[in-house]
Amino acid sequence: MFPASFEYHRASSVKEALAMLQQYGEDGKILAGGHSLIPMMKLRLAQPAHLVDIGGIRQLASIREEGGKVIIGGLVTHHAVERSDVVRAKLGMLSECAAVIGDTQVRNRGTIGGSLAHADPAADYPAAVLALDGEIKIEGTGGSRVVKADDFFIDLMTTAVQPGEVLTEVAFAPVASGAGFTYLKHRQPASGFAMVGVAALLTLDKKGNCDRVRVGITGLGAKPFRAKAVEAALLGKAPAPAIAAAAAHAADGIDPLSDIHASADFRAELARVYTRRALETAAARAKA
Ligand SMILES: Cc1cc2nc3c(=O)[nH]c(=O)nc-3n(C[C@H](O)[C@H](O)[C@H](O)COP(=O)(O)OP(=O)(O)OC[C@H]3O[C@@H](n4cnc5c(N)ncnc54)[C@H](O)[C@@H]3O)c2cc1C
Repeated sequence: MFPASFEYHRASSVKEALAMLQQYGEDGKILAGGHSLIPMMKLRLAQPAHLVDIGGIRQLASIREEGGKVIIGGLVTHHAVERSDVVRAKLGMLSECAAVIGDTQVRNRGTIGGSLAHADPAADYPAAVLALDGEIKIEGTGGSRVVKADDFFIDLMTTAVQPGEVLTEVAFAPVASGAGFTYLKHRQPASGFAMVGVAALLTLDKKGNCDRVRVGITGLGAKPFRAKAVEAALLGKAPAPAIAAAAAHAADGIDPLSDIHASADFRAELARVYTRRALETAAARAKA
């Protein structure tokens, strides 16, 4: 299947990409790894007349530490996130999450910026980025701004990135030592996308009670979200006796998606079960 014809442009800097996007307006679209955009173009769900390829902008393809944060460029591939020593040491959940995205080819081409900007409701990264309190930097012709993960995902495939803007990096504070975490998903058997995916992170105080709990859920609703009712139900409590009751709140207030892969009821049940399992794993890994 071939996409409709388009003109291809290669940007060598963010400034040049922004200028091209401004020039082509509604007819222009960023191309990063192409593993979401090209399939959509082949299906005629997207028909941009101009593709602005940002794949050659080297400054967007690095992982660095700065000001006490780990900063991942928008063009960093899933494979590079999975294999980075810094990410493994300081943001282990993100590395775990990257490792279960799609297959080898997808992980070699797909980028963190592309995944977050695309905001497929079944994408894996959003759950982990929410649980890790990621901060997303967006650049436009008028300057740059930083959006917290909590405010980034707006609706189905809709984020804080506006047309003509580039997601340039995602910053994270390193996970506290002793924290327990994991990312677990129920895979859609053909694509590997998350029918439901849960990122859980918790830290324990000296008495062994939860003093920080983060639960990010993807796949359940139109947009990924932090399960704040689950977090509140665990805070200040010893995890083992409280996890099952807390996880029962995983789908509270969410209108679950329903499609040929899973009904709304099944997705809600998956969310509760995977939240319990993810929290149990996180608790088992946490050190008081
Ligand atoms: C067979 C297959 C299986 C997959 N399985 C999974 C899976 O299990 N889990 C999962 O999470 N994902 C999965 N994916 C999606 C994959 O992770 C994509 O790579 C990712 O969602 C998009 O990243 P990309 O770099 O390929 O973006 P592209 O496809 O190039 O772009 C996607 C969209 O984001 C925009 N965009 C890209 N980069 C930026 C930027 N820096 N700033 C602003 N806008 C930008 C583009 O204009 C486009 O609208 C799968 C894809 C395929 C083809």
